[in-house]
Amino acid sequence: MLPSPSALDELNARIVDCNRCTRLREHCAQVAAVRRRMWADWEYWGRPVPSFGDPLARILILGLAPGAHGSNRTGRPFTGDGSGDFLFPILHRAGFASQPRAASREDGMRLSDLWITSVARCAPPGNKPSPEELRNCAPWLDEEMRLLQNLRVVVCLGRIAFDGLLAWAVRTGTLSSRSGYGFGHGLEYNLPNGLQVLTSYHPSLQNTNTGKLTASMFLKVFRRARQLADRGNHTLKPRGEN
Ligand code: SF4
Repeated sequence: MLPSPSALDELNARIVDCNRCTRLREHCAQVAAVRRRMWADWEYWGRPVPSFGDPLARILILGLAPGAHGSNRTGRPFTGDGSGDFLFPILHRAGFASQPRAASREDGMRLSDLWITSVARCAPPGNKPSPEELRNCAPWLDEEMRLLQNLRVVVCLGRIAFDGLLAWAVRTGTLSSRSGYGFGHGLEYNLPNGLQVLTSYHPSLQNTNTGKLTASMFLKVFRRARQLADRGNHTLKPRGEN
């Protein structure tokens, strides 16, 4: 029997209570206590950030980790920081997001055919989770991908997210080796189980302010994701049938 969409809500509830990474939990709590001056009136979320979107999505965005004063403040992926200010207008133009601006968990945003998650769910110092912290968080991704019953396409934002997806593929037996899977912007891979993978530069301010990632480049990725999802009108092969 297929898992019910509400199983994702239950998973999110467990993620929010996770304490596997002492360093990250302490960092998030400290950022939430000190706050940035411009957000002094906010009650920061300060906990692991749950995933967000349409439980019946065919497309998954896999990001890196929450921003200290973005998701760690608002409690929703890509909400309240520069990366989200770049991402959501594109998702709106591509037809995945109900509105172009993401400000808070109560802003009315709805996603359609899209689910957003990340390889680490707590804001790391310097935006760099350690390898051990990524390994700690990986079982959440395993469970989540199993519950996304309509999943066809994964859009990996940045090299670390792409590495996380490949690690998932090896762990689950979808791939026997990562050999031949390099990272770059706008690459496409078709995994042996039928899952389509698209790669993109991360919409960090470092990439968007320098023009390394432009709005048209990013929009193209999401339009392609929809094309691939429409084309792949099939179910993914279960493990062992690759
Ligand atoms: S990063 Fe992931 S594994 Fe580590 S504490 Fe946060 S939710 Fe838990």
